[in-house]
Amino acid sequence: HRVYGVERWGKGLVEVLETGDIGIRNPLSESTHAVSLPKVVEALGARGVQTPVLLRVASFLEHGVRRVNESFGDAIAEAGYRGAYRGVFPIKVNQQAQIVRRIVEYGQPFGFGLEAGSKPELVIALSQPLPHDALIVCNGTKDEEFVRLAILSRKLGFNTVIVLESLNEVEIAIRVAGELDVDPLLGVRVKLTNQIGGAWAASSGDRSAFGLNSEQLVTSVDRLKEAGLLHCLKLQHSHLGSQIPDVNDVRRAATEACRYFTELLAEGVPLTHLDLGGGLGVDYTGEMKATESSVNYSVKEYCASIVETVRYAMDEAGVEHPTLVTESGRAVVAMSSVLVFDVLEATLFDVETAPAPEPDDHHLVADLAGIGDYVVEGRLQECVNDASYYRNELRALFRRGTIGLRQVARGERIYLRLMSRIRRLAEETGGSPDLVAQLESTADILHCNFSLFQSLPDVWAIDQLHPLVPLQRLNEVPDRRAILSDITCDSDGKIDRFILADRVSATLPVHDIRPDERYLFGTFFVGAYQETLGDLHNLFGDTNVATIELRENGEFDLIEEVEGDTIGEVLSYVEYNPRDCMDGFRRAVDRAISNRKLDASEGRQLIEAYRSSINGYTYYE
Ligand code: PLP
Repeated sequence: HRVYGVERWGKGLVEVLETGDIGIRNPLSESTHAVSLPKVVEALGARGVQTPVLLRVASFLEHGVRRVNESFGDAIAEAGYRGAYRGVFPIKVNQQAQIVRRIVEYGQPFGFGLEAGSKPELVIALSQPLPHDALIVCNGTKDEEFVRLAILSRKLGFNTVIVLESLNEVEIAIRVAGELDVDPLLGVRVKLTNQIGGAWAASSGDRSAFGLNSEQLVTSVDRLKEAGLLHCLKLQHSHLGSQIPDVNDVRRAATEACRYFTELLAEGVPLTHLDLGGGLGVDYTGEMKATESSVNYSVKEYCASIVETVRYAMDEAGVEHPTLVTESGRAVVAMSSVLVFDVLEATLFDVETAPAPEPDDHHLVADLAGIGDYVVEGRLQECVNDASYYRNELRALFRRGTIGLRQVARGERIYLRLMSRIRRLAEETGGSPDLVAQLESTADILHCNFSLFQSLPDVWAIDQLHPLVPLQRLNEVPDRRAILSDITCDSDGKIDRFILADRVSATLPVHDIRPDERYLFGTFFVGAYQETLGDLHNLFGDTNVATIELRENGEFDLIEEVEGDTIGEVLSYVEYNPRDCMDGFRRAVDRAISNRKLDASEGRQLIEAYRSSINGYTYYE
C-alpha cells in the first residue's frame, strides 16, 4: 500500500489499517482507534444511504476551524504580537447550511466570523448566531441593496464590514450611509502589485479584476473625508488568490499590505483591522512543495510568517498592532469531505491470456505472437515498437477488407497480452520512465458510479489533484493499473492523474477486482469549492450526503443525512414539471391500451416503473 502515499498526504487523518482498509482518525482525540471507511459505507448502506455518497466528517471540520484559529493564537503569543486574530470563513468555499452552521458553532470560542461575497451570502451570514466579537466581511461587487442591508445589520449588533472595491462602491456607501442614521463599518480592498504563482495567479497583480490601485485609494480616502465618513474606515483588505504555493509570496504580500496600511494610518485613516484574505493552501499531494496541488509550508508556518511580518512592519512604523483577519476557506473545510463511489465494471486492457496460434493465422498475427519470444529485460522498447507496428498493419488490412473481424480480434488480444507482459517486466526491472509512460496507455478503464462534473468539478476544469485510493485490500499488492471513468456520457468524465507516494501518475495501481466484489474508491479533501461548482451534466444530481462524528472508542455516529437529488428534482431544475412528465407518459400508455398494444395490467406496470424512476436516485442503483 505504500505506493499510494497515504502516510504522506493523510496527515494523521487518513491511514491504512492492518486489515488493509482505509481508516480515518479523530484528530481531536487521543483515542488510538481509527474507523474503517468501508465499514462506515457498509453501515450507511444498511441505513439506506447508498453510494455515491459524500461523507462529511464533523471532527475533521472542527479540526480545520481550530487549526487556523489556534495556530494564529500560538503565533501571536510566540511573537509577542499585541493584537488579536479575528478570522472569517468565506461562505463561497462551501455554502451548504450544515457546513456553515457547524463552522459558526466550532468557531464560537475564537470569535470566528464569516465572509460574504454576494447578497445571498450576506443573507446567510446574517441568519447565523455569530459571537458578538465576530466580523462579517462583505467582499464582491455591491449594489445599494447589499450596502443598505450591511449597514442596517449594524443595528442588530453585527460587525458587518463593507469592503469598498471600486470608486463606484465608495459613492454608493456615501449615499446609503447618508440616508440611514447608522455609521457604517467600512473597509478598502487594495490591489497589491506582487503576483503569486499557482492556479490563481490572476487574482493578484496589476491586471486583477479586484480592488483599488494606489491612485483610486487616495481618491477614496479624499471622498470619504469630504463625506465625513473617514472615521468609519477601519479595515484594509487584500487577497492574492487561493492556494498560494510559496510561503515567500505570503510574506511579500503581507509586507506590501503593511506599507499601504501604515501609509493610510499616516493619512489619518483610523484603521484597526488588517485583512490578508484567503490563500492558505492545502497540501493535497503531501509533497510540501510549491506546486499547484501542494504548498511548501504548514498552517503554523503560514500564521507565523504573517504575524512576524506584520509585527515587524508596524513596529518599524511605530504604530499599534492591528487586529489580524484572514479569510481562509480551503484550509478550513477541504479536509472535511470524502467522496465515496463504487466500481461498476471494468474494461480490461491488462489481460492474462492470449489465444494460441492457429495454422490459418495471417502471417502478421503470427509475427505479432512471435514477439513473445523476446520479451526480456533490455529489449522491452523494441518489443513495444514491433508490437505497435504489427498491430497497426493488421488494422490497416482490416480497414481495406483483406482480413476479417476474427483475425483482427485475435491480433488485438495478442497485442494486449504482450503489452501486459512488457509492462510488468518494465515495472519489475525499473524500465525507463519514457517506456513506462508509453505503457500507461494500456491501463484498464474502471467505470465508476459518480459524475466528475457534479462532484469533482475542479478535477475537470483546472486539473486539481485530490488523493484518490481504493478503500480496501491495501495489504495486497495492487498489480493492475487503471484510469477511472465516470457515469456521464462524456469522454472528459475521466480521472487520469493520480497522487502516488513518489510522483503524480497517469494511472492508478488497483487490485484485480473479483467477480461480485464491492470495490470502493475514496476521493479525499473535497470539502472546498466542489459542491456548488458542480453541475448537472447528463442530469446527475447531488449525491447523498452523510455527516458522521468519530467517537473516542473508534465507533462513529451518523449525525446528519441529506438525500441526494431525485430524478424528479433534477428535472425541475431544468424547468420540467415532473407531474407533467408523468401525465405525458400516462397519455402514451392510455393510447397504447386504446390501440390494444398493451393490456391494463401492463399499463399499470409501466406507469409504476416510470413513477419509481422519477422518485429515484439519479445515479446507478
Ligand atoms: N477571500 C476572497 C476575497 C476570495 O476571493 C477567496 C477565494 O479565492 C477567499 C477569501 C478564500 O480563499 P481560500 O479558499 O484560498 O482560503
